[in-house]
Amino acid sequence: MTTILDVQQLHVHFPVSSTIIRAVNGVDITIKQSETLAVIGESGSGKSILGLAILGLLPANCTANGIIQYRGDNLLTLPESELETIRGREIAWVPQNPAGAMNPLMTVGNQIGEPISLHIEKDKNKVRKKVLELLQFIKITPPEERIDSYPYSFSGGMLQRSLVAMGIAGRPEILIADEPTKGIDVMNKQAILSFFQTLHEEGITLVIITHDLLFARNIADRIAVMYCGRIIEIRRKQEFFNEPLHPYSRGLLRSLPENGLYPIPSGTEEIGDDGGCKFRSRCTCATERCREEPQLITLLEGSAVRCWLYD
Ligand code: ATP
Ligand code: MG
Repeated sequence: MTTILDVQQLHVHFPVSSTIIRAVNGVDITIKQSETLAVIGESGSGKSILGLAILGLLPANCTANGIIQYRGDNLLTLPESELETIRGREIAWVPQNPAGAMNPLMTVGNQIGEPISLHIEKDKNKVRKKVLELLQFIKITPPEERIDSYPYSFSGGMLQRSLVAMGIAGRPEILIADEPTKGIDVMNKQAILSFFQTLHEEGITLVIITHDLLFARNIADRIAVMYCGRIIEIRRKQEFFNEPLHPYSRGLLRSLPENGLYPIPSGTEEIGDDGGCKFRSRCTCATERCREEPQLITLLEGSAVRCWLYD
């Protein structure tokens, strides 16, 4: 499969008072055309910041270095005017917080239609027709009655589905969705799963950031695990769920209800950088060697793990 997005040594740092938060700390990841990649990992591990870096939507108070190669350009150094033509049209984003992400003063239909009129179609009637089709696709029905509604009249699940519609309205090549199933019920989750499966069948490259391991297992071709701003394991889904390699990944899977809900022990280290493996204070396999940071070790094409156990 061809590579659509190649992230190399991405660093995103936030200087905060006397310290530096290394939100993304040397991420290397290759995303293949038309694959569905799930990015998992605990809160604060850098998943959203990685997504925002790809979109060129990083907060102003950070510094970003590295390469995000897309069609011959490094997105990190591309001028904003060029990023604007890519964002929404080629690479789209479904943000983490549906309530905060929508403009309360604009109808849902106009918000879904915005990427269409920006990138694809100027004729208002044609835009409206496309928005009606999208509302039908995300099962907000009857579309004619809902298109002129304001966000306050939508449930959390409907808002979440509307954000997916906004994301796909510009017919992007790559859709990055941040926690698309957070806080929604089983029916809405099922609906989101089925939209993504349809998009996958249409060949759209999907990057799904999620805490929901079962959702990741249902949807993904590959799983990338982040920990303290780094990718610590990336594997094909089947291999990952059958035999997770990194001790943190093993802990994650043991914490699933079907495996007995065993929690991962808490540790003492924060994101600070002492040069060693970030997981070692929580790791039952840690040895002296882990005082030195392991590199990401490639196993097969598209599979890698950052742990001395596999050196
Ligand atoms: P969650 O699962 O809770 O959404 P996440 O993996 O998406 O977590 P990020 O939002 O990417 O985590 O944040 C990574 C780190 O960067 C965290 O330590 C966070 O506190 C820090 N961070 C994010 N945004 C900012 C900001 N604007 N200023 C300072 N630090 C930030
Ligand atoms: Mg996040």
